[in-house]
Amino acid sequence: MGVPISQMWTVASYVIGQKLRRRRRYPLVLMLEPLFRCNLACAGCGKIQYPAHILKRDLPLEDALRAVDECGAPMVSIPGGEPLLYPHIRELVDELVKRRKYIYLCTNAILLKEKLEEGWFKPSKYLSFSVHMDGRRDEHDFAVCREGTYDKAIEGIRKAVDMGFRVTTNTTLFEGTDPNAVRGFFDEMMDVGVEGMMVSPGYAYDKAPDQSNFLHRKTTNNLFEMILSNRKKRWKFNQSPLFLEFLMGSREYECTPWGNPTYNIFGWQRPCYLLQEGYVDTFKELLDTVDWDGYGRASGNPQCQDCMVHCGYEPTAVDHTFSSFGGILGNIKAMLFNRYANPAAGRRLKEEEGKPHGPMAHLVQLGYGSELKDKAGAA
Ligand code: SF4
Ligand code: SF4
Repeated sequence: MGVPISQMWTVASYVIGQKLRRRRRYPLVLMLEPLFRCNLACAGCGKIQYPAHILKRDLPLEDALRAVDECGAPMVSIPGGEPLLYPHIRELVDELVKRRKYIYLCTNAILLKEKLEEGWFKPSKYLSFSVHMDGRRDEHDFAVCREGTYDKAIEGIRKAVDMGFRVTTNTTLFEGTDPNAVRGFFDEMMDVGVEGMMVSPGYAYDKAPDQSNFLHRKTTNNLFEMILSNRKKRWKFNQSPLFLEFLMGSREYECTPWGNPTYNIFGWQRPCYLLQEGYVDTFKELLDTVDWDGYGRASGNPQCQDCMVHCGYEPTAVDHTFSSFGGILGNIKAMLFNRYANPAAGRRLKEEEGKPHGPMAHLVQLGYGSELKDKAGAA
């Protein structure tokens, strides 16, 4: 199991408490973005595209803590930008641990080893480093547009694991992903000792410079079915199994964007982590003023039609787990039959071996010469 029992218990009692209070919309994970600047410049990133005067800004610590208290979610994810560049990150983590929040400090891990050696953090069951890893060495370095990043991140992960920290990985998959390579990557991550892995398809941010490589629904289901069927026993996921089934196409869910609200230097982001349709000053105002029926697939909103991102759909899966007999049964089944045997998906996976993958693959399919094909095959 990729999620510790104490965390599962906290989340279960929180969700049941919300149900008993008949709260229809409640937050599960606060996405607290303390800054947008980063020490990488990944092609798919919608955060680092802000102008320089915004990238320089840091969220005041008091504002961050006020947002945590106001929101009340049992888990706080700290993405960015790169949170290890945030000048108050140590105080922020200390305060969150005092409040017994389960923290996912999302980092590219370039600075992780150095900061751990400097004694910035203490191991705690509440603190997990969630390391951004986009695949094995070549795929990761390509995705983050810098060579050597994979090795640096692995050094950081090993150091954190050795020091007794909780470490998870978060991986965003794009069009052209090689499913066999992802399965190889899962093996590598289990070998370095991470507690669990998280995966999600990417979302086509209109700010991201590379718009051609985002996944669409059918492709997403097909890819995740190949990756997550016929699982190896040793793979552990720090995610709701029902959300993974949704990615594999065996469940239909609707988005619950209020489950992962976002707070940053501008305020509470409307309506979700991915879309930016203005900001409000309080969480209550966010819940009360967004026209929630205008989002999600059923709404017909074109921005939501292809979205299957974890921040919209994982809270739905968690809510389903605790709100119906079907959800509880689904989780029990997922724990008992966690291999997801699927011979047809296994055959499709086999057919993918040796095919060109990566961003150049579509050019190869269009017949742009053997030279390109060699390069894509080698990538
Ligand atoms: S590491 Fe994360 S925040 Fe930094 S550029 Fe890459 S995607 Fe953006
Ligand atoms: S479907 Fe995606 S883009 Fe639309 S509201 Fe939900 S999380 Fe946001």
